[in-house]
Amino acid sequence: MSDQDNPSADRREAAPLRPMPEDWRKALAVVAHPDDLEYGCSAAVAGWTDAGREVVYVLATRGEAGIDGLAPAVCGPLREREQRASAAVVGVGEVEFLGHEDGVVAYGTGLRRDVAAAIRRHRPELVITLNHRDTWGGATWNTPDHVAVGRAVLDAAADAGNRWIFPELAERGLEPWDGVRWVAVAGSPRPTHAVDARPGLERAVRSLLEHRTYIEALTGEEPEAYCRNLLTGGAGAAAGRFGGVPAVTFELFPR
Ligand SMILES: [Zn+2]
Repeated sequence: MSDQDNPSADRREAAPLRPMPEDWRKALAVVAHPDDLEYGCSAAVAGWTDAGREVVYVLATRGEAGIDGLAPAVCGPLREREQRASAAVVGVGEVEFLGHEDGVVAYGTGLRRDVAAAIRRHRPELVITLNHRDTWGGATWNTPDHVAVGRAVLDAAADAGNRWIFPELAERGLEPWDGVRWVAVAGSPRPTHAVDARPGLERAVRSLLEHRTYIEALTGEEPEAYCRNLLTGGAGAAAGRFGGVPAVTFELFPR
């Protein structure tokens, strides 16, 4: 049944968002592209790293197909540099790239294995990804890379804990990790939880601004105004369901 047919969907959209869990020490964010975490989520990340929690970023691609006027061989390394700088602004020092091909990331066992390996390497309690659903809400179609990576992350949270799925990982020294307690999906059209965006919002603006080449190719607006308007607007839109507090929203899947 789709949301269009589901009479409970409207009620769910109006329900108050609950605060995200706080009783964890390490999070792993796995997304498709450079900038996926900077369009909102990084305000929450800044707050978490301020509180002494560790957050690691894993990117499935280098975003090398993201700029029309720039060939992938030039664009990939440039976007990798911008992503590392962007992560550093919100207290994330470790950024990995899995090397999948931008724009044509395929959902399947290869992707699940790569994500499960990352989860086993880093052993997080919280795993974060970006919207895996078909749309961003309404009729705004999502991109296939986000759907593929988001679904693979939700699946790999379980794969990482099972010794007999991808046994080659244990042979490489990556022992099973069954400690993932939640997968939190940022940007979901069906959010259930939220984090106060205010303490991290200014750094989120600066972290998005680090993707300067991409943003300048994307919009004719002044880059800082573009970043600030976008992030302030996004956080403000969630306030109505979070006690009036501008927020970063997540759809939370407990395990
Ligand atoms: Zn993306």
